[in-house]
Amino acid sequence: KIESLDASVSRILVFVRLRPMGKKEKENGSRCCVKILNKRDVYLTEFTNENDYLRLKRLRVRHFTFDSSFPETTTQHEVYSTTTGDLVGAVLEGRNGSVFCYGATGAGKTYTMLGTMDNPGVMVLAIKDLFAKVRQRSLDGNHVVHLSYLEVYNETVRDLLSPGRPLILREDKQGIVAAGLTQYRAYSTDEVMALLQRGNQNRTTEPTRCNETSSRSHAILQVIVEYKTRDASMNIISRVGKLSLIDLAGSERALATDQRTLRSLEGANINKSLLALSSCINALVEGKKHIPYRNSKLTQLLKDSLGGSCNTVMIANISPSSRSFGETQNTLHWADRAKEI
Ligand code: ADP
Ligand code: MG
Repeated sequence: KIESLDASVSRILVFVRLRPMGKKEKENGSRCCVKILNKRDVYLTEFTNENDYLRLKRLRVRHFTFDSSFPETTTQHEVYSTTTGDLVGAVLEGRNGSVFCYGATGAGKTYTMLGTMDNPGVMVLAIKDLFAKVRQRSLDGNHVVHLSYLEVYNETVRDLLSPGRPLILREDKQGIVAAGLTQYRAYSTDEVMALLQRGNQNRTTEPTRCNETSSRSHAILQVIVEYKTRDASMNIISRVGKLSLIDLAGSERALATDQRTLRSLEGANINKSLLALSSCINALVEGKKHIPYRNSKLTQLLKDSLGGSCNTVMIANISPSSRSFGETQNTLHWADRAKEI
């Protein structure tokens, strides 16, 4: 299983999840350009003459390998237990961790993180698992679970559980906090799915397509577990762990694997928080002392959950369609780079 939970080791675990081909994609004649074998190896095929079937040629196959790669048949539960299960255990021990889903719009990030009522995703399964573990430990002390669910859109932070004015970030002894953010005290899983679905509907939508979540919106679920018990001499011992589960904005055009590309993207109309996350990850990859957390709202919010002794998990979501070849290739290159941390 995951061997890097040792507090001294910091590495990003990188996973890839391929979603099934959609109905529309099948109808419009896209071909499948991704194959996953042995739950690790990803093969990406480039085709030429996309619109000329008589001369359609396989041009080149690229090979990538990750901590685990999930083919399109993988269940939500398997994705949860492989990527996030161990982090939930660590949070109960007072450690912080974060799980990101990234990839192009339509690649399956929200499905992986939130899922549907019938097929709940990582956010819901993590909370369910957390409650089960808390019940097992209830004799050892008192656990309190709080949830907050927020959005970063256009460098504005909003509370998805209680929408209203933008939240202001400020730094105090505990680190960066969003002033006035709802801390929802959660008692059971049943309430949580409905809560998160409703919160997701509060995400910013594109003005032109009012039912579609903006591809530039990041959703962050933070689960805070506080544990209190007494030691042999009846002194109160308490510890706090935090798990952040993040459904990132669409990464199309915003993934950069080096500083030069990053700089050339900065001028363009590209999601600032996504670029800043990219910069922080690059800095972590290069083993830099200074990690530029301050450059965006997203990275400020995640300062205590990224790098250092935190457990960080990346799930790269990809589409099988040959029409998405370019985006899939970018996502895989970036994922390949992130795993060097
Ligand atoms: P994103 O959030 O990355 O833009 P979505 O999660 O909304 O993408 O996925 C796009 C579409 O594909 C949705 O209709 C979603 O239900 C479907 N989908 C994504 N991943 C899967 C999967 N693993 N199995 C079945 N359907 C999926
Ligand atoms: Mg989405």
